[in-house]
Amino acid sequence: MVREDDKGIPVRVALRCRPLVPKETSEGCQSCLSFVPGEPQVVVGNDKAFTYDYVFDPSVEQEEVFNTAVAPLIRGIFKGYNATVLAYGQTGSGKTYSMGGTYTATQEHEPHVGVIPRVIKLLFKEKEQRQDWEFLLKVSYLEIYNEDILDLLCPSRERSAQISIREDPKEGIKIVGLTERQVSCAQDTVACLEQGNNSRTVASTAMNSQSSRSHAIFTICIEQKKKNDKNSSFHSKLHLVDLAGININRGLLSLGNVISALGEENKKGGFVPYRDSKLTRLLQ
Ligand code: ADP
Ligand code: MG
Repeated sequence: MVREDDKGIPVRVALRCRPLVPKETSEGCQSCLSFVPGEPQVVVGNDKAFTYDYVFDPSVEQEEVFNTAVAPLIRGIFKGYNATVLAYGQTGSGKTYSMGGTYTATQEHEPHVGVIPRVIKLLFKEKEQRQDWEFLLKVSYLEIYNEDILDLLCPSRERSAQISIREDPKEGIKIVGLTERQVSCAQDTVACLEQGNNSRTVASTAMNSQSSRSHAIFTICIEQKKKNDKNSSFHSKLHLVDLAGININRGLLSLGNVISALGEENKKGGFVPYRDSKLTRLLQ
């Protein structure tokens, strides 16, 4: 099922079920889900069936999840589309694992690397095939905790206090004071991911908080200009989001409302309530 809002933004929902972790197995837990082969459907218990755009059972690995649900968005980026990937689910369900939020460069060739490092690899591969275009890529990585923005590429307390969101009529959303790193190859870009992932862990302990209460947003901004045609140029943004795992969170509530509004088929030109939280303003 593909739902489109009045601006033609498709919203797709993929369900991923992780395997039981060793702790669950040793406590005698058993899976209560079954999967319908060839159908994007999951059955809970004996009779409760749910259908999504994609369903990935526990045997499905990172590569397939990426190729099916995320890679098509990267092709859209080169046509000037924006895209957002949101990982949503309760704490321990596999959001950070799926997104690649524990990535370190030593894992480069391991099959369990998640979405973000794979996005980076594909993005630069596709870029290399477009020699008649000029590119400018910038990366930022931030965390929203209690409606405060923390810059994961420069995680000092004073800096964070100076970060604010502005809405520019021409340029769209601007996050003033946030570090933006210009990157020219996949290696530079994964280095930003790795640095941010490390700050995320450090900052969480320092603030005595948990990732279950914060949203982490890795953003890649791409400017493309055709070399011999000054009139052909695109700006695209790709947001990769590891959402908070708990519901007592303003951002999650607003995000739910925004997604419902975007997904309502008959609501042409309807109101999308994105101003209610920093998360939804940033992802606008
Ligand atoms: P969350 O970020 O949603 O709180 P995590 O990504 O930290 O959850 O995952 C919880 C645990 O489950 C971690 O130990 C992680 O390695 C493991 N895990 C999650 N998804 C998978 C998967 N698809 N295959 C194997 N292990 C997984
Ligand atoms: Mg997590």
